[in-house]
Amino acid sequence: MTRKALDVERIRNDFPILNRQVHGQPLVYLDNAASSQKPAAVVAAVSGYFLNSHANVHRGAHLLSVEATDAYESARAVVADFIGGRTRELVFTRGTTESINLVANSWGGANLAEGDEILLTLMEHHSNLVPWQLLAARTGAKLKFAGLTADGRLDLDDLTAKLGSRTRIVALTHVSNTLGVVNPVAEVARLAHEAGAICLVDGAQSAPHLEVDVVEIGCDFYAFSGHKMCGPTGIGALWGRKELLEAMPPWQGGGEMISEVRLDGSTWAAVPHKFEAGTPSVGDAVGLGAAVRYLSNLGLESIHAHEIELTEYALDRLTELDGFDLFGPRTDRVGVISFRYGDIHAHDLATILDARGVAIRAGHHCNQPLMHHLGVDATARASVYLYNTHAEIDALVDGLLAAKTLFGGFA
Ligand code: PMP
Repeated sequence: MTRKALDVERIRNDFPILNRQVHGQPLVYLDNAASSQKPAAVVAAVSGYFLNSHANVHRGAHLLSVEATDAYESARAVVADFIGGRTRELVFTRGTTESINLVANSWGGANLAEGDEILLTLMEHHSNLVPWQLLAARTGAKLKFAGLTADGRLDLDDLTAKLGSRTRIVALTHVSNTLGVVNPVAEVARLAHEAGAICLVDGAQSAPHLEVDVVEIGCDFYAFSGHKMCGPTGIGALWGRKELLEAMPPWQGGGEMISEVRLDGSTWAAVPHKFEAGTPSVGDAVGLGAAVRYLSNLGLESIHAHEIELTEYALDRLTELDGFDLFGPRTDRVGVISFRYGDIHAHDLATILDARGVAIRAGHHCNQPLMHHLGVDATARASVYLYNTHAEIDALVDGLLAAKTLFGGFA
């Protein structure tokens, strides 16, 4: 298939929020790694669902319930297909965080014993660290961490050295939300399997930006969030290998997840419903389905190519600035650009940029252990998506220069 160049100006018209002003300036939205903006098609799908078809799902004695169930289940099929998975292997959750908690509680609770090891990396988001800490505290399992190379890549030699006969799971991020680096997750999944462990991939920063195929990656679980990929907040998914999902116990009990309930015990619905207790967030699932259709129509390859080109432009311009210091490698990355600029604190940079309409993020990015490793308490982070333009990168550069002037240069 030939790759189509993105028509960014047309795409921008799909996102009404991009036309608004902040502090009297045109919005330049460069905080996409935290959450993306939403195209009108997604908002229309959600409102269309609520205005026309809403009822509770899977209880279909009437037409609206049948329509709601169809809308929910067809969103599941579209979302599963988007990442190369089968529909019945896709569990809707509130997002990456809940997906990882599901695995830690259900798979982890059933499979980990004292002395077993959970191998993570130093660049994990708190969402792929704290659930494992809680599990370790409960089971007596130990956490180990693969280190990083000097330029901010995963140190595969260190990861291999830390994989041992007690390693039960390797859980790592596909793309670092601070360093922007793309990890060799297929290689890690292979190494994990060779060592007799399973592999969970945190796809929060990859599903929105890369063509993902969970079968090609060869992982056992893949977790992601709708709100970073043009979908609503409060919805995401866990893809898992069928054999694993089927063997795992439920993690939350209630309606929807049962087959039969008696006073002396219950049996469970088939996967994926076994993991979806209670009335699901149907409207959000419909919105995520619409987001996936929107991204797929444009083509992930085209979106990725646009972001890479824009990131190259940004890095060319930014690294020309005196005092600009990039965290993470220059290659094998996506458009998440973490940096320090002279001795101006990241929060000051973000505030000065905000006054000029430029939204970036400043802080630890839910990566406190990584911040300690990098020897900083915070970084500034600009992150691009399909609707960002070269002019917006220029606005970022101009804003940084203005910050330097405002501070009277660097100390
Ligand atoms: N992992 C990574 C790499 C992330 O960037 C994020 C979101 N910042 C998460 C997990 C958590 O995602 P959510 O808050 O949507 O559950």
